[in-house]
Amino acid sequence: MRSPNRQAPTRSCVACRTVRAQSALLRVSADAAGQLTVDARPPTGRSVYCCRAATCVERAFTPRTLIRALRREDLDVTPAAIGRLVALAGRVSQ
Ligand SMILES: [Zn+2]
Repeated sequence: MRSPNRQAPTRSCVACRTVRAQSALLRVSADAAGQLTVDARPPTGRSVYCCRAATCVERAFTPRTLIRALRREDLDVTPAAIGRLVALAGRVSQ
């Protein structure tokens, strides 16, 4: 009989608020220069979590949502930066 594992850490999606295992979610964070990245290693600063579903990525990866969730005013949320973030999310969700 398998002994019960400790509860896996959970986080809620910033777009749909669904609570999932942390490992099932994309983690978006920003470095000291305000550059956004997905699943940074090692983790840097405050992070925001999002489902890997395209609908949640679209809703979460907006300037307003990211600035509010990360509590940073200095993020690079230009269309190019958001596009790069979406491309990174697509790559890690394969
Ligand atoms: Zn979601």
